[in-house]
Parts: sequence; structure tokens; C-alpha cells
Amino acid sequence: SSQPLLGFIPRKVKGEQVRKALPHTAQYRKILEARKKLPVFAQMDEFLAMFSHNQIIVMVGETGSGKTTQIPQFVAFSDLPHTKGKLVACTQPWRDIAISMAKRVAEEMDVDLGCEVGYSVRFEDMTEPGKTFLQYMADDTLLREAMNDPNLTRYSTIILDEAHERTLATDILMALLKDLAKRRADLKIIIMSATLDALKFQKYFGLSKKSTAPLLKVPGRTYPIEVFYTQEPEPDYFEAVIKTVLMIHRAEDPGDILVFLTGEEEIEDACKKIKLEADDMVNQNPDSVGPLVCIPLYPSLPPQQQQRIFDPAPSTVSPSGPPGRKVVVSTNIAETSLTIDGIVYVVDPGFSKQQVYNPRIGVMFILVTPISKASAQQRAGRAGRTRPGKCFRLYTEKDFIRELEEQTYPEILRCNLSITVLELLKLGIKDLIRFDFVDAPSAETLMRALALLNDLAAIDDEGNITALGRTMAEFPLDPQLSKMLIASPELKCSNEILTITAMLSVSNIWVRPANAQREADEAKALLLVPGSDHLTLINVFNQYLQHKYDKNWAWQNYVSGRALAQAENVRDQLQRTMERLGIDVVSLSGRKELYQNVRKALVIGFFMQVAHKDGKTGYCTVKDGQSVALHPSCCLISQPEWVLFNEFILTTRPYIRTNTDIRGEWLLELASHYYDLSSFPDSGTKRALQRIAKRNGKPGGISRGGAPASRKQRK
Ligand code: ADP
Ligand code: MG
Repeated sequence: SSQPLLGFIPRKVKGEQVRKALPHTAQYRKILEARKKLPVFAQMDEFLAMFSHNQIIVMVGETGSGKTTQIPQFVAFSDLPHTKGKLVACTQPWRDIAISMAKRVAEEMDVDLGCEVGYSVRFEDMTEPGKTFLQYMADDTLLREAMNDPNLTRYSTIILDEAHERTLATDILMALLKDLAKRRADLKIIIMSATLDALKFQKYFGLSKKSTAPLLKVPGRTYPIEVFYTQEPEPDYFEAVIKTVLMIHRAEDPGDILVFLTGEEEIEDACKKIKLEADDMVNQNPDSVGPLVCIPLYPSLPPQQQQRIFDPAPSTVSPSGPPGRKVVVSTNIAETSLTIDGIVYVVDPGFSKQQVYNPRIGVMFILVTPISKASAQQRAGRAGRTRPGKCFRLYTEKDFIRELEEQTYPEILRCNLSITVLELLKLGIKDLIRFDFVDAPSAETLMRALALLNDLAAIDDEGNITALGRTMAEFPLDPQLSKMLIASPELKCSNEILTITAMLSVSNIWVRPANAQREADEAKALLLVPGSDHLTLINVFNQYLQHKYDKNWAWQNYVSGRALAQAENVRDQLQRTMERLGIDVVSLSGRKELYQNVRKALVIGFFMQVAHKDGKTGYCTVKDGQSVALHPSCCLISQPEWVLFNEFILTTRPYIRTNTDIRGEWLLELASHYYDLSSFPDSGTKRALQRIAKRNGKPGGISRGGAPASRKQRK
């Protein structure tokens, strides 16, 4: 029954308007042969029958069984969305995975990417209206779309993929789709998950309290995996990883290695170290040790480089020499979202980076945290795709049993909900406490989100969304950023705030290679604007624009050309949204108040993220009184009294990063409701603010006037 798929889509030749069936390429046939061997292919008829008889189905299958690449094609084939002018959507928790899946499927279907098959992610839309009928997308992109079209009329089928990841957006989408299914009988919904505990989703989507949604199970096809633990806890997991990889390379049979580490920097570092040591080993024993390639994999990697994980292992140097080996060093995106065939060894130090939100102090930080048992099992499973494999856990068996949680907590239970709450309010959902979440966040987290939105004047004291709040929800940004952007024309610096917002929305722009840290720091010093990391970002961006056609500029200045190009793109899109909403892009360019106004605009958005100098080098965050230090990357050398920060991070100690020197009186002036001293906790910060208020002859913010632009209604 896989025959119909063969002739499903007429092949299109680039630039040719005539759409006729053309013979498929050899590449297509080769991929098709491989596809037919995927476990989901064996259950195509069963899937199609279940799909046509039910509105909502839940599907589980081992990673690599073909869910993400095949099921959307089966759906498109059965549903024929293009004949109804509709689309099939398939969501992914990571934007770059959505892109690479769309690429892969376009290739599998022998069509151009962006035509029949496309993708849509935040700040990037690669689809053709009227032509695209299969769209991969980031889950938060679909969620935003739901805000403007709650019925999601464009879609005939929506597939929520990687539901087990339980990202915030997927969780909210599940709730919205459950409700939408009642209103749109023609809409089909598929929930896909890689872990076997799908019962939760089945129950959630059951038609009544007692019934459950139907389940399609694709049996996995894994070979046995031997799991090894360390005898003693490893004092340094990074060093242990390097040692283990080299040990495998020296002593184990051929087969590729997958290593799990926590983030970009660590991964790049590990790749360099492994490569260096392995080359050494090869030079010393060319007859017994084969060549090794190390490939990094993390979400912010350019898609072409991501594709490298599918390259075959390096071949032997001489015909009779020892075989080569491929090592992929990845974040947990290789846990379930991407399948790399040929992995035989997995090295698992047992950590991942997780967002943790503390509603009590209102800060979110990213922490390297022990993974759950479920994650550890997924990771081990990656070793048995092609033949029996081995998994090396760099922790003790006792720790595995006693210390690891059963499941990873869903994101909704550990993140800042303010933007989501704003989105839900905009959708008209008011009673958030009783909203039908898959797992409801704590009342405290919800209250905290509401309080932040109230502080920003996005909702009023009764919890109703304000005109400002509606405008803020138009931007795919944290509420602090959108507030600052909307307020900035009043201070005649929206041009600059737009740049800052774009720069803060992309991944780190600074490049600091381990072997050239001094050079990188010197280069950075030349770009610094004293007193403000935010103003420094503006400077870097402007310099980048001036040197755009100089290919070496970014490289020579130790900044990421790719991140800057992304920032430019993000800036264009935000600018278009501003134009659509009638928010002017203006600048006092050249005037000396400009930089001061930019810093004031920052205060309008981030007045709750301010630290006051406390002692010689330390700082203390306002209200919650958390002790923090300026991050070493920060450009504030003079240790000003008041510092506004963008991020609170916890590494060896609590740091604040991306900071700007501000004035205490601006807090009283621009955020008087928040800095109402009569309700302020007693502290050095309060006394400092009282002195300022006294000096200025004001009692210190009794009115709730707020920021100059915040209450203004816009068309
Ligand atoms: P699942 O979603 O069930 O985990 P996928 O549909 O992602 O499975 O993958 C099915 C198969 O397609 C896997 O064997 C995977 O290695 C292969 N595959 C996916 N993307 C690519 C790609 N870009 N290049 C080569 N093979 C790929
Ligand atoms: Mg998948």
C-alpha cells in the first residue's frame, strides 16, 4: 500500500511553471527504499484507518521509527489538504529541528523546500501561501497563530510532535486544541510522543471522563544495550567524558559514539579536546587507532552544520588500516528529536541544562541539572539502533536509583509564565486557575505572572488585559521587552531600543574561543560603550552594518556573524510589526541625550530587574534582596550604584549579566508604582531610594502614574 505515495506529488523542475509528473530522481528512489524499512511504514494501513475514523489520536513510537518524517506525509496523502485550500501542520519543540525536518521531508518528497513542504518558525517563514500544504513549525509559532485565529482555520490536521518534551507551548496548545476540537468537527489532531507513558495524553483527550483517546503504538526495534556505571561518583564530568570517549576509541569495536553534554560552549570545547587527543593517539599508533571526527550538535548551530551528523564515519587511512569513528557531541536534542543511525556507544554524564523559575523571587535561571530516569533511558536507547550497543553512564548505579527523578518536570511547572498568561488573557481565557491544563502550574506561579503583567500595566488591577497589554501581545517577546519597545518612541529612541531588543533575542554574539580568550577580550574592549552592555550591543550592531560586506570583519572582531545576521533579520521583522501597529521608529541620533534616553527606556521595561550596590563589590537585587555579582563578561568597570540587568544566572555563584548603569531617581520617576516606598521591604535599597526621594522633594512614588508611554492608547 505504499505504492500511492510513489506518485503522490508531481516532481517540479526549478523555474518551470508547467506542473506535470516527472520521473523521480535516483536520490528519491534511494531514500524511498530506506523509508519503507522504517517501523511506521509497516503500520501505514492501520494508521490511515485510525486517522480516518477518529478526530484525535495519540501515537507513540521509539525515536527513529519514522514519526516526524513519515506521519505528516501519510496525513497529507490521506487528507489531501491542498484540495481544500488547507494545510497540515506538524509542530516541533525546537525551531531548528522544524527547519531540518522540513528540509528532509522536502527531499523525501522530491519537492523544493518552501513550496509544497515548508516551515514556519519565529522570525522566519518559509512557505508559499496557496501552495504549501505541509508545514513544519515551532510549537510557539503555532501558539502565536492561535492568538490571532483561535479556530486555526488554515489547518485541516494539526500534529503535535515530541509531546513528551512537554514544552510550555505544546502544553498550552494541547489545552487549546482540546477545546477547539469541540468547535471544529472537521479538524483532526494527532499527538505524537516518543515515550511509552502516553496514557496521560490519552486520558486528557478522552471524549468523556472515563474514555480515552485511541492509541497507535509503533513497536520499537532496538537491539540489546549493555549499561555501565562508574564505581565512584565522577568529580568532573567533563574530564570523565573526554576520558571515556578516548577509551572507547582505543579499546572498543568499530561503531559511532554519541555524547551528551549540556551546552554550546561545553560541546565545542569537548570536540576540540577529543580531536586533539585522538589525533595524538593516531600519530602514536597509526596501525591500531583509526581516524576520528568529532561533530558538535546544539540548537543554535547553522542547519547545514547540523546536517553533518548524518555524514558517514571517516574512512580508514590505508586500505588495511583501523576503521574510522564518528563522535557526535550533543545537547539533549539528540535524545529524541534527531536520530543518528550507526550509533553504537552512548556516553551519558547525566546532566542537562534546564530552565528553572523561582516564582518567589521572580527570576528564571538556567541550571545544569541531573536528568531524569526517563531521559537516561532515552539516551541509552540511542545506542541500539543498528546493532547491540553500550551505554556508559558517568555516575554510580546507586545515584541512578536514588537520586534521579522518574520524569523530567514539564516546562510549564518550572518557567516564567508571564508571556503565556498574557497570550491566554488575549484569547479571552480569564479563569486561569481553573483552566484545563495537562498539568496545572502552581497558583503561585500564575499569581506571580499576573503580578508582573500588572506591574507592567499590561493588565489592570481586576486582571483585565489593557490596551497596552494587547499591543504587547502582538510581539513575540517577553513582556518586559515589548513594553520597553512600545514606550521607546516617547523617549525618541525606538530605533535604538529596536536594535537592543533584536540583539537580545538572538543567541550570544560574542565569540571567545578557549585558545584565544585574551585576543577575544581585547577585541571586545574596542567595541565597548562604557557603562552599558546594552549600548555596547547597539554599537556592535551598527559596526556590523557598516562592515557588512567585509567578510572578515566579524571573525576579526570575535563576534558571531551568524548571530548578527539573525539579529538584523529579527530587527526587520519587529520593525514591520511596529509599523503595522503604528509605533514610530525614531531616533535622536547624534544628540547627546540619546544614550540617556535609551537607558531610561530600559528602565521602563526592566525596572524590576535592578540591583543596588551593597558593600565593596557586591550587589543586592531590589525587593527580594538576592546577593549577586556582576558577571565577568560585563563591561561595567566602575561599579555604579544602580545596575539594571537582563539575566540572572547561577553558575559558581549568582551573577547578573548584560547590565546597564542607571540612576536611582529614574526608578522613582518611571516606575513609581513598583517603587512605592510605603510598601517597600526595609533594606539598604529602600534607604537609598528614600534619600533620593527626599533630595528631589518628593515623598517617593505614591501615585500609580507609571511610565510616560505606558498608559497611552495606540491605534
Ligand atoms: P522519529 O520521529 O520517530 O524519531 P524520524 O522520522 O525523525 O523518526 O526519523 C526517521 C529516520 O529518518 C531515521 O532513521 C533518521 O535517521 C532518518 N533521518 C531523518 N532526518 C534525516 C536527514 N536529514 N538525513 C538523513 N536521515 C535522516
Ligand atoms: Mg521525531
